[in-house]
Amino acid sequence: PAPEAPRAGFLGRLFGRGDARGAPRRVLDDDMLESLEDLLITADMGVDTAARVTANMAEGRMGQRLSSHEIKSILAQEIARVMEPVARPMPLYSKRPQVVLVVGVNGSGKTTTIGKLASQFKAAGKSVVIAAGDTFRAAAVEQLQVWGDRAGVPVMTAPEGSDPASLAFDAMIRAEADGADLLMIDTAGRLQNRADLMEELAKIVRVIRKKDPDAPHNTLLVLDATTGQNALSQVDIFLKLADVSGLVMTKLDGTARGGVLVALADRFGLPIHAIGVGEQIDDLAPFDPEEFAAALTG
Ligand code: GDP
Repeated sequence: PAPEAPRAGFLGRLFGRGDARGAPRRVLDDDMLESLEDLLITADMGVDTAARVTANMAEGRMGQRLSSHEIKSILAQEIARVMEPVARPMPLYSKRPQVVLVVGVNGSGKTTTIGKLASQFKAAGKSVVIAAGDTFRAAAVEQLQVWGDRAGVPVMTAPEGSDPASLAFDAMIRAEADGADLLMIDTAGRLQNRADLMEELAKIVRVIRKKDPDAPHNTLLVLDATTGQNALSQVDIFLKLADVSGLVMTKLDGTARGGVLVALADRFGLPIHAIGVGEQIDDLAPFDPEEFAAALTG
């Protein structure tokens, strides 16, 4: 059987657990760097990013004798350095309504994330309207209504199979009439027919721009951390389909594949607005690079 993916704290693999005190110091040499690089790759950091992080780590430190604790903290520092520029909450504008288009493949956690965000915005005193733009999945619409109820936010829906763009337009009118601060628009995530999805997203954008030429003000791409390297190709795809302005990474609770965030930051430089850390309404946290790096390196 394939070896189990390492959990957070994967460096324990290299050093064994509980070796903080009296453990031998090791020389930082090519062998050690190679082992570290392998571990980073196993944690889904990707080959290029793992190489870059270990190279940065090596700079000025080759031949030093380091404890495992020191190695971990240097590594965490280097990882945090890659992540710091992208750790930015979703920008809020004075624009009313601020239109937030939410994209991502089905199952990535779009519905859940919209519910969590709506709840956070509401707690911050903002009024929010949600549009259930994935009109092709009745279950998705129902689920979004459940989340809207939880967050105490109205959810605009349309009959199954109807045009998402016309729902988005109606939602713009409603949000304007209500003086809502934010309008969050869910979208379909069927990648099977990419041309259709592209046209659908483009039409939503076209239509809402009739009401506000600057809309959408944010386009959030929701990614599932448990898909590992697959998240990278999803970003590639969605950058072609929509004007992605920021990321939300879900399911970071209990996955060993969080290293993909480092690869994402390194490769795309898109802001990471928040991370999903569970299935409950409060399980959405701001992205904290140092905390993340510490958890990843254990
Ligand atoms: P959508 O198809 O993109 O709208 O995805 P959903 O929001 O329906 O989420 C798919 C599944 O992932 C559901 O079972 C959610 O409870 C779960 N989920 C979403 N976000 C998180 C998260 O941050 N952590 C965990 N553990 N599960 C999540």
